[in-house]
Amino acid sequence: MPLLKELDEKGLGVVGRDLYRFASELYPICRSITGNGIRSTLNRIQLQIPLEISEVPTGTPVFDWVVPKEWNIRDAYIKAANGERLVDFRKCNLHVLNYSVPVHATMPLSKLRPHLFTIPDKPDWIPYRTSYYREDWGFCLSHNQMLALAEGEYEVCIDSTLEDGHLTYGESYLPGRSRDEVLISCHACHPSLANDNLSGLSVATFLAQFLSGRDLRYSYRFLFIPGTIGAIAWLARNRETAGRIGHGLVLTCIGDDGPFHYKKSRRGNAEIDRAAAYVLAEHSESSQIVEFTPYGYDERQYCSPGFNLPVGCLMRSVWGTFPEYHTSADNLEFIRPPQLAGSLRMCVAILDVLENNRRYRNLSPYCEPQLGRRNLYRTTGGNTIGTDINARLWVLNLSDGEHSLLDIVERSGIPFATIREAADLLSQNGLLSVIPGDGGGREAWHEEKEKCV
Ligand SMILES: [Zn+2]
Repeated sequence: MPLLKELDEKGLGVVGRDLYRFASELYPICRSITGNGIRSTLNRIQLQIPLEISEVPTGTPVFDWVVPKEWNIRDAYIKAANGERLVDFRKCNLHVLNYSVPVHATMPLSKLRPHLFTIPDKPDWIPYRTSYYREDWGFCLSHNQMLALAEGEYEVCIDSTLEDGHLTYGESYLPGRSRDEVLISCHACHPSLANDNLSGLSVATFLAQFLSGRDLRYSYRFLFIPGTIGAIAWLARNRETAGRIGHGLVLTCIGDDGPFHYKKSRRGNAEIDRAAAYVLAEHSESSQIVEFTPYGYDERQYCSPGFNLPVGCLMRSVWGTFPEYHTSADNLEFIRPPQLAGSLRMCVAILDVLENNRRYRNLSPYCEPQLGRRNLYRTTGGNTIGTDINARLWVLNLSDGEHSLLDIVERSGIPFATIREAADLLSQNGLLSVIPGDGGGREAWHEEKEKCV
């Protein structure tokens, strides 16, 4: 049964509620690019899917970068002279400049002010700020909170540690019939931010769960990694595996109610780019395709020239363009169950195309085969033929061993599902055969493996 049909039969309402509940559970955790926040997030994901967790020591060189010190935080506050916590990490983990070095001092407001970050034009929102690669400390607070700070002395405390440790990431691998891989990657390094990080992470987890145990053409690799440094570390340690990635998606910002956006891979015309463009146009009128740029999420690393992997990025609202981005307003109100479920469905629809996109050879290529004799044509003559019969004619005509089903879809304008059904039917009637290696049967590497055992 096609993957998409199976997902729809599960009921998107139920799926959306589960996705939202999962994101809500992870929301309070103070994550960063290293430390116990990302570890506990991965441990929670591990309850849903098999996940191999890797720890890369501080100081490990990864291409042009070095794995940083590990950061952990227990508490942070700005206290008034009367002992009241005016800014309290326990109320919102965005209050601390992520990766702040420890500090405990009493200082006048004038000395504290350079360490405070606000958004003046969104005076009730707390910004999310980081300082991963420059040792610093600071607090993020709403602009109104800052305006309310009177001149005077404040007790400032950030109870954190920044010391040698590890960078942690998680990986889930689902073997398919082929060694060729589909990569699904998401960042898991942001603290309490829902659309930016938790939406992608939740959809990736449920996608892995949905695909797990199925007879799949491709092998699937899911990465739950800290942004930038995590992708760089994974690529540095898995150069050979990276060469097997035939298609890939970075998932980010897919829980809000914005229209879908797909950012193409650096290649621009990879199968994933074409599959995503087709699926988005088919399922969502307002969707948009965005050309590759070297700025963005981890597609930046996968699409660096040395790798140039066919990895695009699926989003709803584009990161950086919505006002809630990197603020306390990117919260659990900002993402919704139907949007999360719709994003999972979009991923499944794209994978459904990849799983079933293959080339065939017409076994009766000299003039049209007589379809009527095989009950594959209309029984009475007329002026028009239906889409089903038209699909059969398109598949027969373009199945010269060169054109894939996706090529036929693009050229005919007929939906992929209809073209695929036509190919199945024509194959059953002995009129088509799959080009070897296009996923029509068991792939060679499994047979080799079985022989070794
Ligand atoms: Zn972000």
